Amino acid sequence: MGLLALGTALEWPEAKKRADQVREWGIKQLLEIWNKAKGKERDALLWGDEVEYLVVNYTKDNEKVYLSLRQAEILKALAADKDLAKEGGCVPALQDTDGKKSNTLPVFHPEFGRFMLEATPGKPWGIGFKELLGVEPDMKLRRKIAKEHMLTSEYPITLTTYPRIGAPGQFTDPYYPPSGDKLRSQFVPDEIANPHIRFPTLAANIRSRRGRKVQVNVPIFHDQNTPNPWKDPTVNYDLHKFPEDDDVRNGAAPDNFIHMDAMAFGMGSCCLQITFQAKNINEGRTLYDQLSPLGPIMLALTAATPIYKGFLAGTDVRWNQISRAVDCRTPEELGEKPLKNDRWRIPKSRYASNSTYISLDHRLREEYMDPDLVVDPKIKAELINGGMDDRLATHFAHLFIRDPIVIFEEDLQELDLSKTDHFENIQSTNWQHMRFKPPPAENNIGWRVEFRSMEIQVTDFENAAFSVFMVLLTRAILSFDLNFYIPIKKVDENMERAHNLDAVLHDKFYFRKNVFPSRPSRANTVFGDDAAPNGTNGGSSRPGSRYPSRPGSPGGGGPVELEYAEMSIDEIVNGSADGAFPGLVPIVESYLDSVNVDVETRCELATYLSLVSKRASGELDTAARWIRNFVAAHPAYRHDSVVGDDINHDLIGAVIELCEREAAGRNFAGLGIPGLSRLLGKFRGGCGSEADAEAEGNGVVNGDAPVVV
Ligand code: ADP
Ligand code: MG
Ligand code: MG
Ligand code: MG
Ligand code: MG
Ligand code: MG
Repeated sequence: MGLLALGTALEWPEAKKRADQVREWGIKQLLEIWNKAKGKERDALLWGDEVEYLVVNYTKDNEKVYLSLRQAEILKALAADKDLAKEGGCVPALQDTDGKKSNTLPVFHPEFGRFMLEATPGKPWGIGFKELLGVEPDMKLRRKIAKEHMLTSEYPITLTTYPRIGAPGQFTDPYYPPSGDKLRSQFVPDEIANPHIRFPTLAANIRSRRGRKVQVNVPIFHDQNTPNPWKDPTVNYDLHKFPEDDDVRNGAAPDNFIHMDAMAFGMGSCCLQITFQAKNINEGRTLYDQLSPLGPIMLALTAATPIYKGFLAGTDVRWNQISRAVDCRTPEELGEKPLKNDRWRIPKSRYASNSTYISLDHRLREEYMDPDLVVDPKIKAELINGGMDDRLATHFAHLFIRDPIVIFEEDLQELDLSKTDHFENIQSTNWQHMRFKPPPAENNIGWRVEFRSMEIQVTDFENAAFSVFMVLLTRAILSFDLNFYIPIKKVDENMERAHNLDAVLHDKFYFRKNVFPSRPSRANTVFGDDAAPNGTNGGSSRPGSRYPSRPGSPGGGGPVELEYAEMSIDEIVNGSADGAFPGLVPIVESYLDSVNVDVETRCELATYLSLVSKRASGELDTAARWIRNFVAAHPAYRHDSVVGDDINHDLIGAVIELCEREAAGRNFAGLGIPGLSRLLGKFRGGCGSEADAEAEGNGVVNGDAPVVV
């Protein structure tokens, strides 16, 4: 997110009138960046993670837990901390200074929810293997520093969503009644959003553009005592304060769905994002494409979102809820009414899986592209006239079909080509699962790619594990020249499947069968021209490649449908039983074998790979499964899908305890939290540190195996 400059935010009818101007100026700024940075070379391989937190107000003996709305005060306390400032850690939105390159302490950022915080490392990570081991301690440090600037009863926790957000009664501290003018929600107050004018305006203008409130409906999980059909008992059909109160009378809250009606239900979710800097634009474009098909796989693997508004949901991940929570499409764009005032039908929300591949890779075949892609032809022509190639122009002309939602009057006086604000206005409100980030105007940053689908995990060990795994996978992709291309429509379908309950165990996902490069390619041909004669493209023959040819697997020439198959996450991550598909973790291991890593580092990295591998195989539970089991085993649970205050209290308590114990070491023995060893396993023993060995003997958790992480 960019810095939050203050200004006069336009309400929707006014903003709409200025949309063309913002797009026009945004494209001019983009071309300026393009021309300046397209030849940028040899940027360092840097990367950085973003961890988002919910701030809860929790005490052991009060059954009520609250979302703390003190984001601003906490950020202020962080910014005012002289010791932090000395080390370079700070809050950029509040201390708008440049030259923070030598930061060693984490940086904290505001987020949409007034109960949220985001923290990033003080400066991006390099890819040295030792540096990878710094990630987990840094994440722990972030949590510790955040906690130190909170009240005694406040805790930063990394659940994706607050289980009882929007449930009846008080769930925020302080309490505000719902039905404010901006969100017009019957469940959450306007005060739940960051009060900076950008955020309420974003929510209000999305609602205005749509012509009704957002509709975030999640299927209820049908437990043995859950009525069928189930009617959301928290919906009030008798409100008459705003015109939008009619929504539920017009069918916005169908049977068997948990009904939510505001941006906060989606954008109030926490995720784990990773940004990679590429050495040049082409490498960035390659990474963008190759990471795209991994989005849904990693979403399913990190599933952590089983509860909404106090009910168990029939889905496991946050993605579609956020998508719906910011869906600004009009009835015409949605195809509910014939096109009259709007320009086109738009198949997806502006928060959705990405619809473009952008690389100039000859292996990218025309058939992989989205045949229904909507682009603005005028903008595309302008980009091509400005010197951009067709493929990238298509990508941006697709992003630019959207209207800017928040426009500040002051920014429309004069076009400043040394800035990127208008470009970023559209770019940063296209929340796709990959983001291609051009270099910002001012400093020396290169072309970056952001991987955005992963769910935040409960502990920093897990968050570090998934981050490090993704970093290593990008190294393997580049080093082995891997090819994960499948038709982008199949990526969309995978994204839907990733929502299913325990998708990691029960679902199959489209995945490319042969990911190794085929014979030396003819350089720089465009679509579909990698068709080597049959039989010559069966597998890798790259010099130095560890991978043998696999006769019979299509490498590029045959029909597209033969290039991919439906595989389980276990097969994708750990390899197929018949050895036909090697598996992402073994690929990463081969990469590690091919480079110099000392034994100790390798062992630490192995603990991360092991977590990923065991989550995929089902030996360990996803956070979603762990939470479901926790609820099911709770004495207060009546198997009616209701997650009441008492269960919520104990779940939040467990999560807090887990992270406090994690901060003190890695020994979770004796914590008494059900299911812990199924969540975290016993990974650390192998590296042989004294503390681990000592702890190993005595940790029994509720009859589970010893837990030493
Ligand atoms: P956004 O919210 O727009 O995605 P943030 O600034 O919050 O961006 O975080 C982006 C992440 O990228 C952070 O972890 C940061 O450390 C990292 N980062 C910053 N500069 C670079 C760079 N040049 N290359 C790679 N990652 C970077
Ligand atoms: Mg961020
Ligand atoms: Mg952001
Ligand atoms: Mg964020
Ligand atoms: Mg981000
Ligand atoms: Mg209790």
